[in-house]
Amino acid sequence: MTDVIDKLCELHKLDCRIEKLTDRLDSIPQRLQKLEENFQKRISEIEREKESLKNSEFSRKKIELDIEEFENKIKTFKLQLQKVKTNEEYKAMESQIEFSKNKISELETKEIELFDEIDAMKGELAELEKRHGAEKERFRNEKMNLESEQERGAEMIKELQKQKESSLALIEPKLLKKYEKIKTARGSALALVYMSENESGSSKKSFWVCGGCNSMITSHLVEEVKKKEDIAICESCGRILYFE
Ligand SMILES: [Zn+2]
Repeated sequence: MTDVIDKLCELHKLDCRIEKLTDRLDSIPQRLQKLEENFQKRISEIEREKESLKNSEFSRKKIELDIEEFENKIKTFKLQLQKVKTNEEYKAMESQIEFSKNKISELETKEIELFDEIDAMKGELAELEKRHGAEKERFRNEKMNLESEQERGAEMIKELQKQKESSLALIEPKLLKKYEKIKTARGSALALVYMSENESGSSKKSFWVCGGCNSMITSHLVEEVKKKEDIAICESCGRILYFE
């Protein structure tokens, strides 16, 4: 019987490894997608920043043109001023000049503010691009690692499946059916028996526990498991118990 239990143990361990590896491989496409999303997010952030910088620079140019226009108007008014005949005309022209001067001053204040904004934007953009540069490298490495993990994992699963086939061939069908039945019901067919400790006050109590359901196991059953004379089943979860 020792041999049979060892074979079941081997099958159980192979199944656990295959399951763990499959879970890990299943998570890779999602991890790759998340990675790609984060990477694209940074690119969009940079694009947005570039777009607002372009808009601000455009506004600044527009202000410069407006200032130029008012300056030209002032020049024209000053020329006209020399030609006016009445006092009213003179005053009207002077107020036009004053208006244009005020407009220029307003526009210049706006332009200075815009200059500061543009400077800040350029700094932010440079910072984003710097971060993106570092991330690009990390992104490429992480992507490569995940992809090679995917490849290696698939190879390893194939290898484990082969080992499982050989392992299955060594177990009698009736026992195998039992194994599969427990596995389907519980997720795993075997459970390791381990020693657990319970501390209450100053006293420490040790007892044996089923690794599948964490229930306490009687010392009688523990002896059965140790003897390996027959298959020992956990009374709580129905898993086949084994010792390492
Ligand atoms: Zn159990």
